[in-house]
Amino acid sequence: MIFIALGSNVGDRLAYLRQAIAAMGAFFTIKKSSPVFETEALLPEGSPPAWNRPHCNMVIAGESALSPEALLQRLQEVEHRLGRPPDHLFHAPRTIDLDIVLYHNQKVQTERLTIPHKGLEDRLFLRALLAFLGKTPYPPEESYIPLRSFVLEPKLVGIVNATPDSFSDGGRHLNPDDAVRHMKALEAAGAAVVELGAQSTRPGYTEVSPQVEIERLAPIVERYQGTACLGVDTYFDEVVEYALQHSFLWMNDVKGQLCETTIKKIADCGAQLVTMLCGTDYSWFEERVKTLVHLGMRKENILLDPGVGFGKTRSENLDAIRLCPKLRDYGCPILLGPSRKSCLSSFSPVAAAERDIETLGICASAEADYLRVHAVEDHMRFFVAQQSVLPLLDTEDSRNSHKACPRRACTS
Ligand code: ADP
Ligand code: MG
Repeated sequence: MIFIALGSNVGDRLAYLRQAIAAMGAFFTIKKSSPVFETEALLPEGSPPAWNRPHCNMVIAGESALSPEALLQRLQEVEHRLGRPPDHLFHAPRTIDLDIVLYHNQKVQTERLTIPHKGLEDRLFLRALLAFLGKTPYPPEESYIPLRSFVLEPKLVGIVNATPDSFSDGGRHLNPDDAVRHMKALEAAGAAVVELGAQSTRPGYTEVSPQVEIERLAPIVERYQGTACLGVDTYFDEVVEYALQHSFLWMNDVKGQLCETTIKKIADCGAQLVTMLCGTDYSWFEERVKTLVHLGMRKENILLDPGVGFGKTRSENLDAIRLCPKLRDYGCPILLGPSRKSCLSSFSPVAAAERDIETLGICASAEADYLRVHAVEDHMRFFVAQQSVLPLLDTEDSRNSHKACPRRACTS
């Protein structure tokens, strides 16, 4: 087994880790991944204060046919492709750092390469991360507590409702400063997308115009300075246009009525589009995906949402959640948005704002790539704990359970 450490402390760090893993797929087969630990930068004295940015670190285990030297070469190519300059200064912030920690049982000592990696001597977090993969090279194992921890899969979409009337949090983030504060909190909690909504689409909502949506969004967009991928929940062409002009890369369309020109623009920007099923005619997705692909959308940028809470009875809503894995047949990622919705009241009497535990129960059992939730931090903590007790490597059992739970055993 080969163990590779990944680190990032610039920009959307989790996104860089995901991109690096995807790029490494060309020459490295992942068997298992650790959770991601956020750790303080380890800097020599006298480093510029701007370098003092926390890192996101993880380790992946897998196999490769490449020699250590050839593997290093390919890893460095990935580093450069993800924006790390070849003449990068030691300890300076980096979009991505890829290190070979262990290569089977081999020791390597050349000018370019030291294996086992030198960091194993003094980076406690590295040893703690290896322990998640069943590898404890330098016992006794010391304890290490990260600043925060994350998983890369499933991806969490954090909801920010800049509305007076949303069903569980209406009015809380209508004030732009409150909205921005909440966005930063979702970003820090590891949301893959921070999704703004400027209109409630709860059952029985009163529609506001696209102009009102834009007026609610604009002061938030002007104030927000951060690294998260921004999304918008809207079914208006004008609002999508505004969002694309402001670098949003995620459009959540609950009606499926955006015009062709708008969809082409979304495709041209390489943005993602959530397309939601209202009702229960699942075959609708087939036509819908064909239309979107015809308009230029790549399948990996089309997210299929079975539409919990939209045009369905309570039992049909539960069916929609159970049906998630079947939607994979259409070849697109799947998004589920059960957060705090009223179908959860079919088994619990608590008020809408109190339904995060029920949401978590649903999210933990659903087979979705993206989970659209209010409580990102709680969901992240849950998924980290869940991932940390996945079976260890090198046993018959672990091989079997990877099959049973492929999504969380490997990152895609
Ligand atoms: P670090 O990864 O220690 O934070 P850098 O990534 O800036 O620091 O160091 C990069 C250099 O370390 C590379 O040029 C590479 O030749 C060398 N190196 C030595 N051993 C390894 C290893 N096991 N994995 C990756 N790079 C290594
Ligand atoms: Mg390195």
